[in-house]
Amino acid sequence: MGCRVTVPFGASKTYTALVVDVHDRKPDGGYVVKELISLMDERPVVTSAQLTLWNWLSQYYMCSLGEVFKAAIPTNLRLREQPSAQSGHGTACPDAFAADMPAPAKQLNEYQQKAYEEITHSFLGNDITLLHGVTSSGKTEIYIHLINTYVRAGKQVLYLLPEIALTTQITERLRRVFGDRLGVYHSKFTDKERRSVYERQLSGSPYQIILGVRSSVLLPFRDLGLVIVDEEHETSYKQQEPAPRYHARNCSIILARQQNAKVLLGTATPCLESYHMAQTGRYGYVQLTHRYHDMRLPEVEVVDIARLHKQKRMRGAFSPALTEAISQALEQGEQVILFQNRRGFSSYVQCRNCGWVPRCERCDVSLTYHKRQGVLTCHYCGKQYTLPQQCPQCEEHQLTYIGLGTERIEDQIHTLFPEAKVSRMDLDTAKTRKEYEEIINDFSSHKCDILIGTQMVSKGLDFDNVSVVGILDADSMLNLPDFRSYERTYHVLAQVAGRAGRQHHTGKVILQTRNAELPIISCIVNNDYTSMHTMQMAERRLFGYPPLCRLIYIYLKHRDAARAEQCAQHLATRLRASFGDNILGPDRPPVSRIHSMSLRKIIVKHPTNYSPAKVREALLQARQDLTEQPFANGVNVYFDVDPV
Ligand code: ADP
Ligand code: ZN
Ligand code: ZN
Repeated sequence: MGCRVTVPFGASKTYTALVVDVHDRKPDGGYVVKELISLMDERPVVTSAQLTLWNWLSQYYMCSLGEVFKAAIPTNLRLREQPSAQSGHGTACPDAFAADMPAPAKQLNEYQQKAYEEITHSFLGNDITLLHGVTSSGKTEIYIHLINTYVRAGKQVLYLLPEIALTTQITERLRRVFGDRLGVYHSKFTDKERRSVYERQLSGSPYQIILGVRSSVLLPFRDLGLVIVDEEHETSYKQQEPAPRYHARNCSIILARQQNAKVLLGTATPCLESYHMAQTGRYGYVQLTHRYHDMRLPEVEVVDIARLHKQKRMRGAFSPALTEAISQALEQGEQVILFQNRRGFSSYVQCRNCGWVPRCERCDVSLTYHKRQGVLTCHYCGKQYTLPQQCPQCEEHQLTYIGLGTERIEDQIHTLFPEAKVSRMDLDTAKTRKEYEEIINDFSSHKCDILIGTQMVSKGLDFDNVSVVGILDADSMLNLPDFRSYERTYHVLAQVAGRAGRQHHTGKVILQTRNAELPIISCIVNNDYTSMHTMQMAERRLFGYPPLCRLIYIYLKHRDAARAEQCAQHLATRLRASFGDNILGPDRPPVSRIHSMSLRKIIVKHPTNYSPAKVREALLQARQDLTEQPFANGVNVYFDVDPV
């Protein structure tokens, strides 16, 4: 069990497969049993504990075990013939369990020490504890002390970070204390690097600490004592595409339960789900309200850009208050972060004469203009188009750019502050880990004055000379058609704002919006998590949304829109028979055609006291029934459990 084998498949194909069970039961259904071709491993490449977790994952998230296997195993362990997992690293690397610390951990201040003690106390009675600590309170220092305790007791620790928060900054902070005991598992690593970590974890001398992204919950662990989920509110912990659409925070809780380990969820802005669990006593709760160095929280100034636009006092995306704050910061030799949650130059292009908007031919969405590359790009399928010289509909030459992307902000900054050194961080400029780290390092070492970026600039970065943060357009997030959009805006803006401020100096945040009167904006201004939580929970209660119920989204894809609709109607009707009003839809999602496939969505809401297993069984049965209908030929139905 846990070894790979090669197996015959069909008439002539050979596949690599994983042995998940060894038995002598005859298969039902009259299958012909074939011989294995060969055994690829002398020792298992997957432990039985991993298989248990993966089975849970495939059942809970309603996908196949093979899909979990694909996500969990580095590619070159999957397909090719390879030497035994025990070889390679065990001897070359120093014995992890014997190594000493290269530097001591920093001494905790009194607040951190108190939080540390509260956490260890909480672990006596709770398997899961939420650490709610304001930005820059030194949560990472507390993690380091906790890790130290577990490592000394001979336990393994898993430290999870969202993909883009896993920077050299954090790796170095940990490496300084834990040296060779630390293994890093990053999805941007080469396959060879990931494989070497994977194999090391299987070997006799695994890393004692794994600092890693989402997929590291799927690694082999032998004696896990603690899991830290930093920035636990981050939605990127949830895998969207492809299956398994799993949530690494939730999986880590199952992993920890399996291994008798504790879980610490850390964040400045807990997600409503985790906070609710803490409030209802199911998680321990520890709060840290002091920032290190007594650094004060930034002052947030709300600027009503609707009024300023009317008065024609905006210069591009910049209000007078923001321009003034930037120029003051630059004069003092301080740095500025500008946040705009949209990449590219403009959101879309439009003919001024007839209103024509270029759209993707494969997806039901308008194209984004990228000026540097001189192309229109579909942000859903990636297809690029040339920018037409004239409108193909009315042949006018008046194409205009609507909406502000980071590229356009950069252009405007060059016009407003020609002297300033500017860099931009988004999916276009930071494609690789190297590019990403270069941008961060240049900004940290003050080679650049202004950093413009998307959400990427908000993640776990610790800069010491930023006095101003500008949020150019809070509305693009607030207006997303999603029940979590206010909560999400709060998370992102509180995190971005947290980048402002230096020792002994209060930072300044300029928040530009057309919705200045919304209560959620005052929550952000006052750093008032509690009010945000109370307001959002009231809405969730009223409309029946998580954490007060559970959601499963069902997606149906078909090349033909009418077929997609027919299948969706059929499935929804079938499901209403068992779930009644708990079935919503089918609906067309905001982007209802992607990659030439038409999409439909059905929402299943179920009370938290329903048996998840029974709900899943009914859903899988309904899917099975649908796919047996002649009209359903070619439809693809998949599930997104606990969508974020
Ligand atoms: P958080 O994770 O809560 O955002 P960090 O752990 O990154 O906060 O701490 C913010 C900054 O303060 C970091 O530069 C960190 O090194 C420093 N810091 C925090 N606590 C201490 C401490 N006890 N001793 C020395 N420096 C500290
Ligand atoms: Zn036109
Ligand atoms: Zn497209």
